[in-house]
Amino acid sequence: MKYILALDAGTTSNRAIIYDKNAKIVAVSQRDFKQHYPRAGYVEHDANAIWSTMLSCMEDAVEKSGLEAGDISAIGITNQRETTIVWDKLTGEPIAPAIVWQCRRTADYCDELKRRGLADIIRQKTGLIIDAYFSGTKLKWILDNVPGARERANNGELLFGTVDSWLIYKLTQGKVHATDYTNASRTMMYDINALDYDDELLREFGVPRCMLPPVMPSSHIYGYADKSLLGAEIPIAGAAGDQQSALFGQGCFEPGSAKCTYGTGGFLLMNTGDKPILSSRGLITTIAWGVGAGVEYALEGSVFVAGAVIQWLRDELRLISSAGESEALAREVESSNGCFIVPAFVGLGAPYWDQYARGAIVGLTRGVDRRHIARAALESIAYQTADVLCAMESDTGKRLSQLRVDGGASANDLLMQIQSDMGQAPVVRGESVETTSRGAAFLAGLASGVWSGKGELSRLCSASRRFEPQIGEIERQTRLQQWHRAVERSLNWAKQE
Ligand code: ADP
Repeated sequence: MKYILALDAGTTSNRAIIYDKNAKIVAVSQRDFKQHYPRAGYVEHDANAIWSTMLSCMEDAVEKSGLEAGDISAIGITNQRETTIVWDKLTGEPIAPAIVWQCRRTADYCDELKRRGLADIIRQKTGLIIDAYFSGTKLKWILDNVPGARERANNGELLFGTVDSWLIYKLTQGKVHATDYTNASRTMMYDINALDYDDELLREFGVPRCMLPPVMPSSHIYGYADKSLLGAEIPIAGAAGDQQSALFGQGCFEPGSAKCTYGTGGFLLMNTGDKPILSSRGLITTIAWGVGAGVEYALEGSVFVAGAVIQWLRDELRLISSAGESEALAREVESSNGCFIVPAFVGLGAPYWDQYARGAIVGLTRGVDRRHIARAALESIAYQTADVLCAMESDTGKRLSQLRVDGGASANDLLMQIQSDMGQAPVVRGESVETTSRGAAFLAGLASGVWSGKGELSRLCSASRRFEPQIGEIERQTRLQQWHRAVERSLNWAKQE
């Protein structure tokens, strides 16, 4: 039997998961690490804590599995994307706290880039919308603000990496500095057409090329985890950012296939094949993975509030006592009785992009009760997701072939049925909820010969339940139109006096 060790470096915790050749989980270990909020809008991690918690997860998972380190064929890494780390090339010591993807400290500089008219060129080159999420402006911040950093970077004394690079560097004890295409495509420094860092953007951010990790395929032997760590030298054979890894772990190998992760927010990615497609509807273009020669691309969009609207029903409105109860309550009625909830608690993302939108409940009559509210809340998740899917379809000119789902709220059968109705496409829920780490395992297993190709991987992504559309196109259009009227009423709200 061959085994793969997948490392899932998340935003609040690290996990190590051991998979067997049938993609079944043999052991899991998880450790939380501290979030630092030094100022309003700032989010930091201690890069050494990221490494030490991951190392103890690895040791623990191997011990729990009862395997010897020598039984593990390869390590695959998936990671919180965009989080930025700079360390000393000789000592391996970080020179500053890691700046986490959520951190807004470079928002003003991003506004300045937009004012200077750089949005189009950055989009064309990187596929991204200018935002403080992405690594480039965070790296510039470190070089501008840590005393002596830029000079040392220019002298070749410092290295930059996202969490994948950092883990590869630590696993190989400083022998390898590298990243994969998916993580590179989130730096806002990488040209996703030319597959190279872009000199003009590097000049803008004042970043010397010598500190950047060389970019490798996502399925590739990067180097070897040092024998002193687990007791055997193990190839590091895969790396991908978390959302791309989930797309791969869901087996979305064909253009037109998509996945949605229904967690606090909703995260959608659609495979668009071997050509990047620039969105005219506010979606991001990103590299899906590099497996074999070249790369494949994806369109990405997110829904800010998905499962969180169910938390709100539970914690603020107290209509339900657990998230799972939302389904039984909503099933007591056939429809939301004309009621629509727009959960724009923090504005709206794609395709609206209105940071001033705020939540609304419209269509209330005396006949609307808590059951309708529960149903409208679930519908709001499906409508927002349908809006993003529709934007993806119109950008690609392709129909969605199927939507593969994961995340906490994908357990809700009613929500999944409404999603299938609203997207007019099959919704497929897999047996495994661990799609993110499974993607990393797949990528590593391909490069190390555990699996032969995507065909074999597809067979491992077995579905546990499939939902087919049950309503006609006219009803769908009618409901979406009403939803869009409700959305209109929530737009721009916080800007008005
Ligand atoms: P995250 O990784 O963002 O914390 P999870 O994947 O753990 O999210 O999913 C948790 C979210 O899913 C919560 O917002 C919760 O309200 C929602 N959720 C969990 N179970 C259900 C359910 N049966 N129906 C609807 N929403 C659910």
